[in-house]
Formats: sequence, C-alpha cells, structure tokens
Amino acid sequence: MIKTIGFGATKFHKTLQPKIFQRQEPGNSDVEMELLYCGVCHSDVHQVNDDWKNTVWPCVPGHEIVGKVSRIGQNVTTFKVGDLAAVGCITDSCGTCYSCRHGDEQFCEAESGMLGTYNGPLIATGQNTYGGYSNHFVIKENYLIALPEGMPPEVAGPILCAGVTTYSPLKHWGVKPGMRVGIVGMGGLGHMAVKIAKAMGADVTVITTSSDKKEDAMKFGASKVVLSTSKKEMAEVEKSLDLILNTIPERHEIEPYLNLLHHDGAMVIVGVLMTQPEWNPQQIIMYRRTLAGSLIGGIAETKEVLDFCVQHQIFPEIEMIEAHEINDAFKNIESKKARYRYVIDLSTLGKEDVSKLEDIGVVGHILLKDKKAKTPQPEVQAEDNRLNFEPSWSQESEHQ
Ligand SMILES: [Zn+2]
Ligand SMILES: [Zn+2]
Repeated sequence: MIKTIGFGATKFHKTLQPKIFQRQEPGNSDVEMELLYCGVCHSDVHQVNDDWKNTVWPCVPGHEIVGKVSRIGQNVTTFKVGDLAAVGCITDSCGTCYSCRHGDEQFCEAESGMLGTYNGPLIATGQNTYGGYSNHFVIKENYLIALPEGMPPEVAGPILCAGVTTYSPLKHWGVKPGMRVGIVGMGGLGHMAVKIAKAMGADVTVITTSSDKKEDAMKFGASKVVLSTSKKEMAEVEKSLDLILNTIPERHEIEPYLNLLHHDGAMVIVGVLMTQPEWNPQQIIMYRRTLAGSLIGGIAETKEVLDFCVQHQIFPEIEMIEAHEINDAFKNIESKKARYRYVIDLSTLGKEDVSKLEDIGVVGHILLKDKKAKTPQPEVQAEDNRLNFEPSWSQESEHQ
C-alpha cells in the first residue's frame, strides 16, 4: 500500500481537509506517479457540495493531474521513471464496447460506465476512486497521457478537462475558418474554448455576465464581447452565430442563447448537469436549430488537444495556489472571482503532522452503500413519454 496525503471532504464535513489514505501498489500494467500539480475544476466544487446528488464520500477531488512517473509495472512499455505525464477525467473503461472501440471512453457502455478519476464508477461496484488533490497516483498505462514536448507542466492540467471538454465539441461540430462561434460563459472552460475556437480559425463572440472580462476575452481571441445582462447587446447579435458552446455551470435560462443562433445553428451544452428552466421548442423548430450536449473527450482526443495547444501555443490562464488555500479557491470559483483556473502546487502537501490526520481508507475498497445512480436525477421527475424503441442507426452502427 502506498501511504498518500490528500485533501478530501466527508459527508459530514464538506470543506476540504488534509487526510491520509492508501493507494494500491501498481500492478504489472500500472504506473505510479508522484504528483506535481492539479487543476481545480468547477466539477470539484459541485462534487464536494454534492450538487449533483451523486457524490461518494469521502471525496478527494482532482482530475486535471500532472506528475512524474516514479515506478512502472513490468509490462509497461510507453513510460519510464522520470517521465512527465498527466491524468484527466478517465482512469479506466471496459475497452471493448462500441464507444471504447471508437475512442469515446467517456461514453463507455459497460454497466459500471467509465471509471472516473475521482468519485468512482457510474454505478455502485464497491470501488471508489480518489483524485489528484494528493501526492501519489496509480493508473493503468493505457489511461496515462504523456506530456508532449513544449507543454509546460504547471499549465497542462486544465487542458485535461477544461481543454478537452471544449476542444471535443468544437471539433465534432466542424469548426473551421470563418465559422461564427459563440462562447457562453468565460470561466475555466470558456476561456480555453475562446483560445481553441480562435486557433481553429473561427470568428469568436464571447457572451458573459462579467463586464470586467471584456479585455481578457479580446486578448484570448474574441472579436466581439456581449454582456448577456444587456438586452440591447443581446439583440444586436440575434441569429448571428453558427455554433454556441454553452459553458455555464449553473442552472440558467437557455432561450436567450438559442436565439443567438442563425438557422441551422447548434448550441452545445458542456457546463451544466442540472435540470434547466422550461424552454420552448419553438426556439429550435423555427430555425431548424440543434440543442446538443457533450462530455469531456476520450483518451486519444485528450492527447490530441495537448498537441493542439503546443502547436498553437495556447495555454490555460492559471493561478498557482498552495494546497491549504483550496477552500478559498472554491469560494472564488463559486463567486466567479477565479481568473481563470486555479492549479494546486502539490509540493505544498505533506507538511502536516501525518499522525494527526484522519485516515479515510484504501482506494478501491470503499463500500458504496450511499451510492445513487451517477446520472444526475432531475429534482422533479417529468412524466416519461418516451417511446420504447431503439433507433435503427444505433443498431446498425454496432455492426460497422
Ligand atoms: Zn473537470
Ligand atoms: Zn466501454
């Protein structure tokens, strides 16, 4: 067992405190890392607050991880001790289902789904995972990502979640030079979305509630910034965009943003995992618009976005913090004060008197008796009027 120090929260104490726990020794195909940095994602805040009603306690967040390889299993061939490497949101998946075979491990169709870097599998299996707010990590070789040459390790973390979450839909919806792309919300995800869309050649409009982000938005590559609180400014960009990436992480009205799409435009939701206020389908029917969603990206795509960022020299805007500052960072994220991604310097861990820390067990052997379905459940269950049929294309695609 590897004694590990991390920052975690418990069901009865939902602020992060230093804890100790044990990670499994690396197996033949595993890599052990000493962690250097971990980005602070808005999901970490939601998870510790149990906003999605699916948190497994105790919870050690962190899925924007960068570290140095310290030990490898005997079958590991792609990493050696001393290599810089990164872990994103996925640490395992079945590897055989349609989604996994097509590089979309985030949609793994196995019963337990993909194994999240923290907060475990999609359904209860008796296995929880603790994330990167810690000083050691053990992961299967195939889910570890080498840092490309030219990628500064201190800024790489946020690309593993915020970067791929925005890169994946921008690529999937075919962003190309001249396309008019709107980025709604310019926080951790949004600021990377602006840089990536610009690098793909798009004409980028940022739609934000924060007037003080205007200058930054232009600096990151936007050609226009619209204050969503101004009816006049919103009216000026009505029906002007081909694609919108909606990165708002909280419940919000979506109709005002749908209305910014030109006909045949699409809005992709990547930030919010809660039920939304009612909206009228007329908003999409009238102009043949699409409302869609997207979740992070697979392992291959995560490698691809790291390369893309090096190639275009676009990196996350980060503020480095010490581990003990994490609860203040959470508050700043919630009050929209973060600019734009906090990254924890994990060398500041482990200075505590270990004998006084609460031991929260062994990773992988937590009983999940409190585990609910990981898919966020709507607070009010709408009447289920779905037809019970499988679209023919999804069956066909299985056989391709
Ligand atoms: Zn994240
Ligand atoms: Zn799978």
